[in-house]
Amino acid sequence: MIPAVLPTYSRAPLAFTRGEGSWLTAEDGTRYLDLGSGIAVNALGHAAPELVAVMQEQSQRLWHVSNLYRIPEQERLAELLTEHTFADTCFFTNSGTEACELAVKMARKYWSAKGDERFRILTFEGAFHGRSSAAIAAAGSEKMIGGFGPVLPGFTVLPFGDHEALKAAMAEPDVGAVLVEPIQGEGGIRPLPDVCLKGLREACDATGALLIFDEVQCGMGRTGRLFAHEWAGITPDIMMVAKGIGGGFPLGAVLATEAAAAGMGVGTHGSTYGGNPLGCAIGAKVVEIVSQPDFLAEVNRKAGLFRQGLEALVAAHPDLFEDVRGQGLILGLKMRRPPADLVAAARDEQLLTVAAADQTLRLLPALNIPDADIAEALARLERAASRLKTQ
Ligand SMILES: *Cc1c(COP(=O)(O)O)cnc(C)c1O
Repeated sequence: MIPAVLPTYSRAPLAFTRGEGSWLTAEDGTRYLDLGSGIAVNALGHAAPELVAVMQEQSQRLWHVSNLYRIPEQERLAELLTEHTFADTCFFTNSGTEACELAVKMARKYWSAKGDERFRILTFEGAFHGRSSAAIAAAGSEKMIGGFGPVLPGFTVLPFGDHEALKAAMAEPDVGAVLVEPIQGEGGIRPLPDVCLKGLREACDATGALLIFDEVQCGMGRTGRLFAHEWAGITPDIMMVAKGIGGGFPLGAVLATEAAAAGMGVGTHGSTYGGNPLGCAIGAKVVEIVSQPDFLAEVNRKAGLFRQGLEALVAAHPDLFEDVRGQGLILGLKMRRPPADLVAAARDEQLLTVAAADQTLRLLPALNIPDADIAEALARLERAASRLKTQ
């Protein structure tokens, strides 16, 4: 018999009743150190006091009003984001998938408004952009699109890191945009090197194609800059944001330059919940905190500590691990075997991690994880790795 909850997930037999900082308490009272953060969502840890305060204050005043009216909380969040990024304008969504939908629509509208047929969007193998029809077409993997056809047309998925294939595809006259994660998250913490990001920018500039970054997972301070692409010294035309921006509240956004958003006039897009006062008040607090240079400097310092420990772990278990991947606090352990066993062994040590593709174990701690919790996480990972070896 089908369970009451549609069985689309393979779930660990664990349920939590409470969260505080980097710790989760299970139903039986056991405490788990959380290096998954709801997959990069709880950027400031669980029940962050600053966010609880904002939510309480806002929830007593106003939760939801329609976008038929001005929403000052939404305007404030948009102003914060445009102040701190390349963007001139923002649209708020409730998820990364919805941000992907709008990014695709915006790019296509940009060209159609110019009277051009450049609807094709180039993407990369291993990408993850969400689960809507457009997002699975953009990723193109059989695992995601199988059985859900006909697949939304107008996407070409290129091999990861194949410069010749990119060059050839960019020369096609119907290509209007390139969509890419600066660091692939689900794909196994695979960063696009800065020179490649710069090369993509140049290639787009040469043909006029729009460059769309999906920073749903790698953005919002995760890499030690507010957004990952800042490390490469270039900017996109359109950017998808979600996950960390709500600190646990469902919130996403599409950020764009004025030129890229030129086709999106009144009536071209909308969302009932998107940009509601409650979500935007919380999001504004997250952006306010995470964009502070001191906060980001701390992310980088903590990342250094964490990485040093992970390098030592890899050196101690060369049979298990290949290397450490990622930047800042979006870290991956590339393994020599599927990561599922290590995820389970870590769970037995009351440590929560997340598997990714490409035989990679993902570590996405709260950006404000205390140093002591980093040390504890490394000790538990070491025990889990040793336990795996003796099995
Ligand atoms: C999680 C994720 C998405 C989809 O976000 P949802 O909020 O699950 O819809 C899109 N892109 C990337 C890079 C992601 O990690």
